[in-house]
Amino acid sequence: MSTIAFINVGMHGRVNPTLPVVAELVRRGHRVTYHTSPAFRAGVEAAGASVRLYPGGDFALPDPPTPLTLLAGLARATAGLLPAVLDELRGIRPDLIVHDSACPWGAVAARELKVPAASSFTTFAFNRHVHSPTRGSGGLLAAAASRPCALQRYLRSRTGLRRHFDTRGLPLIDLGNIRQPLNLVYTSPAFQPSVDDFDRSYRFVGPSIGSRPVDTSFPTDRLRDPVLYASLGTVFNASPRLLRGFATALAPLGGTVVLSTGQTDPDALGPLPANVLARRFVPQPEVLARAAMFVTHGGMNSVNEALYAGVPVLVIPQGADQPAVARRVVELGAGLSLRTEEADVASVRALARRLLHEPRFRAAATALRDSQREAGGFLRAADELESYLEAAGTAGPASPGSSSKRG
Ligand code: UDP
Repeated sequence: MSTIAFINVGMHGRVNPTLPVVAELVRRGHRVTYHTSPAFRAGVEAAGASVRLYPGGDFALPDPPTPLTLLAGLARATAGLLPAVLDELRGIRPDLIVHDSACPWGAVAARELKVPAASSFTTFAFNRHVHSPTRGSGGLLAAAASRPCALQRYLRSRTGLRRHFDTRGLPLIDLGNIRQPLNLVYTSPAFQPSVDDFDRSYRFVGPSIGSRPVDTSFPTDRLRDPVLYASLGTVFNASPRLLRGFATALAPLGGTVVLSTGQTDPDALGPLPANVLARRFVPQPEVLARAAMFVTHGGMNSVNEALYAGVPVLVIPQGADQPAVARRVVELGAGLSLRTEEADVASVRALARRLLHEPRFRAAATALRDSQREAGGFLRAADELESYLEAAGTAGPASPGSSSKRG
């Protein structure tokens, strides 16, 4: 049995794929701790980990998360959180730290404590086709020149970090792309663009989809086929007008239209057609298992989950890595993409109709479903972490429930 410390940012998209891995590691007899913010406490506890909350409540990323504000926010959070996180980790004495690729305090803590670390990528792994949101670029330089205060804040935090902690191995700029000797990427090799660019430290384990706590408030029995699903995720503030447009566009094509409104209050959308079920948050994997198509912002988890269910997608990217996800979906034939400015009722309806009636989209999504499942998911991720522990020589004694190695 080993002690494994997960360290993450408080975002559904970053936390969700790790939870089935945590549950599997606990099932295999490991002790797991998880640093997160209060909003994720219940989910992490349900997975069987011992929750450690960051001081100061929910850790919010800047909104909108431009590369410069993101960098300054990450550096400031790292300097602010490290003393408390390190204190706790010294008590926990982990054999392994698993941190998000955009969680510099996890990487620095591992260095400080001389503990092996693995990084968790819930986006694509980054390369020449998919750019890390915090990479050094002309755009970042221009933003720094026009916002010298944000640049100064970043430099101040970095200097403070270097003075007090072992920051070797931390990228100077690209804090959203922190690599380790083991990098778990939660998509399949088939969906990752230019997968051959990556060395063996990257393991494309596929979508990590386990059972989630049942949401008894969701009226699954009211769903009528074909179920059409639309969501712009949990992070981006979707305009009520856009969400309302989805409802109006899809209602005549569907039995039930499920609309997840995220940060937006469903009441702000006004009266909707009778067959539209609008909620702030819905049990997405369950809805996708019934869905005939999905209008999505192209969040990596949402698209991974859709393709895991073999559901074709209409991607309307809102920012971050979503345009790259949209390009990949279109390239592989598993869906279509539309710019937000063009997403009026007529266009959304026309593209949704194509996804429903042209069999090639469902066929491509079904082919990807097989690859997404073959990648191994949370079982493979747990195997990789156990192998890494063994190779690092820090694994505790084997416990009876341990390991289900796969090829
Ligand atoms: N999600 C959900 N119900 C909702 C909306 C989202 O369960 O109504 C989950 C979804 O299953 C996914 C995550 O929240 O795991 C969203 O992550 P993604 O990367 O797609 O987008 P983000 O919200 O980070 O922009």
